[in-house]
Amino acid sequence: MPTPPPIQPPDPLPLKGRVVLITGGAQGIGRGIAQGVLGAGGSVLIGDADVEAGEACLAEWNVGEAARFRELDVSKETSVRRFVEHGTKTFGRVDGLVNNAAIADPDAGPLESLSLADWNRYMAVNLTSVLLCCRQALPSLRECGGSVVNLASTRALMSEADTEPYATAKGGIVAFTHALAMSAGPEVRVNVISPGWVPTEQWQKPGDRKPPKLTRKDHAQHPAGRAGTPMDIAHLAVYLLSEQSAFVTGQNFVIDGGMVRKMVYA
Ligand code: NAD
Repeated sequence: MPTPPPIQPPDPLPLKGRVVLITGGAQGIGRGIAQGVLGAGGSVLIGDADVEAGEACLAEWNVGEAARFRELDVSKETSVRRFVEHGTKTFGRVDGLVNNAAIADPDAGPLESLSLADWNRYMAVNLTSVLLCCRQALPSLRECGGSVVNLASTRALMSEADTEPYATAKGGIVAFTHALAMSAGPEVRVNVISPGWVPTEQWQKPGDRKPPKLTRKDHAQHPAGRAGTPMDIAHLAVYLLSEQSAFVTGQNFVIDGGMVRKMVYA
């Protein structure tokens, strides 16, 4: 008669020996995820348009060859190709891809005055970039039985005025994720995290850091009692990148302190 496996403590280093590429990994949530991966025993290649921020990460982390940085523009196919090739050549494998880089400001102004160029810029940086990075990394991810984590937003599900390009791109990422999960499985799993309000002022490059301007009211409006932090997102990303989530694919994980579940009546 087969018996259930014995009690085992959780693995403290679930990403040991694994290599994760993180776009926009030099600041904000991306930097938090990179730190989460390093803390879980993995190695990271962070790609970012901001070279100063990337170099500051390497200097501050001081983890030697476990972390590398490469300049990246996720909206440019050649730049994405070089970024992924650099990761494969440097580390010899790619186990995870985090598509995090984006124009993070959702406010694009009134639709009537939105230029086609601005709309296209949002689509290129916030949506087409996910296609470019996934397509380039898929062969290596398949070899390793890898995991993709995309960053969408609760704005894929709810909105303020004047945010059409950002909301559209994020909604597209949620749909792209479940479609790719079907095409890339069973070798590669693909999931999406939709964060709520995550202040990142303290997670910028040294010269740009400031304390977040959050009032008690800002925190209290969250059912969980506070706004989010990049490490809240990083903990979930590490789980989705690790074998602990081997039965999870095609899902959208809202992590927002309960805000999208809150009914608001005047
Ligand atoms: P951030 O602005 O703090 O950091 C974004 C990083 O991406 C920066 O280092 C920036 O230099 C880099 N970047 C921007 N354009 C790039 C490009 N074309 N190529 C490469 N790198 C580029 O942003 P954040 O708030 O940490 O957001 C990270 C992700 O989380 C984004 O996808 C954003 O839409 C999503 N998100 C954030 C929040 C939030 O409250 N912070 C909420 C929901 C979703």
